[in-house]
Amino acid sequence: MVARENMAKMKAQKPSQDEIAKALGALKRARPSLTPDDFAAPLLDWYASHGRDLPWRKRWPELTPAYDVFLSELMLQQTVVATVIPYFERFKSLWPTISDLAQSSEEALLKEWAGLGYYARARNLRKAAIAIVNDHDGRFPEDEKALLTLPGVGPYTAAALSAFAFDKPAIVLDGNVERVMARFAGLITPLPALKSELRAVYPRLAPRAQHSDFAQAIMDLGSSICIAGTPRCDICPLAPRCVMAHKPEASYLPVKPKKQPKPKRQGVIFVATKQGKAVMMRRDAKGLLGGMMGFPTKGWESSKEAMGATDLGIKDAPFAADWRPLNQEVRHIFTHFELSLRVYHTTYEGEDLPDGLTLHVPDDVGLASVFAKVWQMVAASD
Ligand code: SF4
Repeated sequence: MVARENMAKMKAQKPSQDEIAKALGALKRARPSLTPDDFAAPLLDWYASHGRDLPWRKRWPELTPAYDVFLSELMLQQTVVATVIPYFERFKSLWPTISDLAQSSEEALLKEWAGLGYYARARNLRKAAIAIVNDHDGRFPEDEKALLTLPGVGPYTAAALSAFAFDKPAIVLDGNVERVMARFAGLITPLPALKSELRAVYPRLAPRAQHSDFAQAIMDLGSSICIAGTPRCDICPLAPRCVMAHKPEASYLPVKPKKQPKPKRQGVIFVATKQGKAVMMRRDAKGLLGGMMGFPTKGWESSKEAMGATDLGIKDAPFAADWRPLNQEVRHIFTHFELSLRVYHTTYEGEDLPDGLTLHVPDDVGLASVFAKVWQMVAASD
């Protein structure tokens, strides 16, 4: 009870990085018990009755098809499970196999991906499907090294494919796994250096079989019990052997590096409407939101452009018209910068648009989130 009160108090106070380091340094480090019997066994027991049923997930000894692992893992990067489920199901109904996906057009795929963000993932998904069909006879390689040669496959995705689809003892480290293991073993090394420590700890905690369930079980525990912030140690199956169980300092682990503020960029965007449609353009294949449909915009799409973007305004419009600024700006956060967009609107009266511009119903083309926000604001202003 006292421990829980202390945890809540620490959460409310939001200590500085220096205070966290001091609190963790003062902890008497217990000698962690790093055996599968202490970690994997109770974890897998818990998973058997409490693990989530997900549309892409099979339970050991059944294995999830590699295509399903790949699709779901790419979608889950930077996106929560509840958002991914309908996208995964739609992709599987449109492109049931990796060969079907390899034959898709980039345009169709980007349209279906709209709203998930980080569109490079969608392009990589298709490129990887083509590589698997052309270079691997339509079958995913099982080996992590070979998987790493596929577009969009980094160390985490290669390990997840290897473990979930092929039951290999791969080291699958995501944010949930890092948190649960750092707390269980009392590892106070800050990220990212913590990762190499975890690579040594992971095999000591892993089971001798059932590799496909192991990391997925940790992820489920990490998203429901050993959650970010105050963990729910009172209902955790790992509590009897966990170094940080019931300790208020558990909420500090894993220790994160200091966050740098995101740079800010400013831009202008132009929306000309005509009878429910808007003037749009297909963006360059290379670069941010490459290959997607969007409204003409300027000033923010690369760091070089952002640095040189001063005095943006109606002079940057794609054609002369009665452009009027909306009262509010659109704000959007990308992974590496924050964007403020000044929105200009006009009613398009002409017949012939300049090259590269065409009229579309924006909701039908699969808008990226930033353009969807702009379109909503224009629609609300009418
Ligand atoms: S006992 Fe608490 S800190 Fe340890 S793994 Fe479980 S929820 Fe996390």
